Amino acid sequence: MPTDLTAYVRPTQGAPRVSGMAAGIVGSEILKIAADIRALVAKGQKICNLTVGDFDPKQFQIPEILKNGIVDAYGKNETNYPPSNGMPELRAAIQRYYARDLGLEVPLESILVCGGARPVIYGVYRTVVDPGDVVVYPLPSWNNNHYIQMCAARGVPIQCSADTRFLPTRDAILASLAEARLVCLNSPLNPTGTAMSLEMVKGISEAILAENEKREKAGKRPVFLMYDQIYWMLTAEGTTHYTPPAVLPEMARYTIFVDGISKAFAATGVRVGWAVGPVDVIDRMSSILGHVGAWAPRAEQLASAKLLDDKAGIQSYVDGLKHGIVSRLSALHEGFQALKAQGLPVDSLSPEGAIYLTVRVAPFGKKTPDGSEIRSNEDVRKLLLDRAGVGVVPFQAFGYPDEDGWFRLSVGAVSLRDIQDAMPRIAETLRALS
Ligand code: PMP
Repeated sequence: MPTDLTAYVRPTQGAPRVSGMAAGIVGSEILKIAADIRALVAKGQKICNLTVGDFDPKQFQIPEILKNGIVDAYGKNETNYPPSNGMPELRAAIQRYYARDLGLEVPLESILVCGGARPVIYGVYRTVVDPGDVVVYPLPSWNNNHYIQMCAARGVPIQCSADTRFLPTRDAILASLAEARLVCLNSPLNPTGTAMSLEMVKGISEAILAENEKREKAGKRPVFLMYDQIYWMLTAEGTTHYTPPAVLPEMARYTIFVDGISKAFAATGVRVGWAVGPVDVIDRMSSILGHVGAWAPRAEQLASAKLLDDKAGIQSYVDGLKHGIVSRLSALHEGFQALKAQGLPVDSLSPEGAIYLTVRVAPFGKKTPDGSEIRSNEDVRKLLLDRAGVGVVPFQAFGYPDEDGWFRLSVGAVSLRDIQDAMPRIAETLRALS
């Protein structure tokens, strides 16, 4: 008989037994919303689930070359440890891919491969931020608060508004730059699906260069820029993705890119990501993440190398993926604009990239048919879920404080038909308010 340890390992009452950091970490807000949706689906309700920042493989599959490459590599017993900074084949393929498709030439030592983009982000924080250091990041944005908590850093959030499509400007960053150790940007942005303009990238880069010139003279550590461009291949037509080092090459001294195959190739579960940055930073980051063991599996790395070298294949795959995403985002955007034109209290920002649409649903002060007044974003979220069968995520899940009706809608897990069916339900729900 095995010894039953259940009574010992179940959480006990009383003071937390873990570190202060661990006790302070909050789980994903979006996962809580997902649990609500699962409960309704379990009851047999049909829900248009626009909450998950993921792809449903029924809607979007990974490229064949990637799938076959993974199977092939396991067939060849590629199962031992990869080098801790990544397989040389993949690092060289990333080097070629950046030169070819982003116009950026970097040495191999600038490239570090990880098990997805999350460990890259964690690695950037651990490598440049000491406890108490200031990290500047915009609101809304994805998960910076959690990495700040893990590093005991001091977060300085910059609240953005619809006027700038929820993106930070040079002036907004400048106000906190003198004390910053790290600035975190993401474009196209999760949660908004909007992308930084050339003017924004250039302005912020100039400000960082000017700040670092001062620090260098004073013998002080520089401020770094984490530039998360995980969605860069998924820009909508008419939108260009700009990178700080392409705009001002000197920014390569301070920019650490976060990137990977998760979004561009609908491969969130394959777990291949990478950092590209200054060699001294990448070297230390490689040591830190090597101890974490945050590598991508060897077979997935080899398959990703083949994928990234297939220029024509990438082009046609990404064209197809973008078409699928943009048609869904446009259906939502046009749907909401039509409701706005009918006088309903909604709005949306035109999609520029990623898999997200920013939508405002603001029937505040109105009453539902059962008499309860709508006061908060959470009330709106529940209204849309319970009465229209549509799951959305309030900007609060991305640190945005104001209860003014802004939501992220994500299209990776729904069909165009799901969206077309959902729009009339949303209209009806809003019209039924008094
Ligand atoms: N950065 C951003 C902006 C993201 O939205 C995500 C995923 N939601 C990630 C990084 C993490 O990507 P990965 O799945 O490769 O860890």
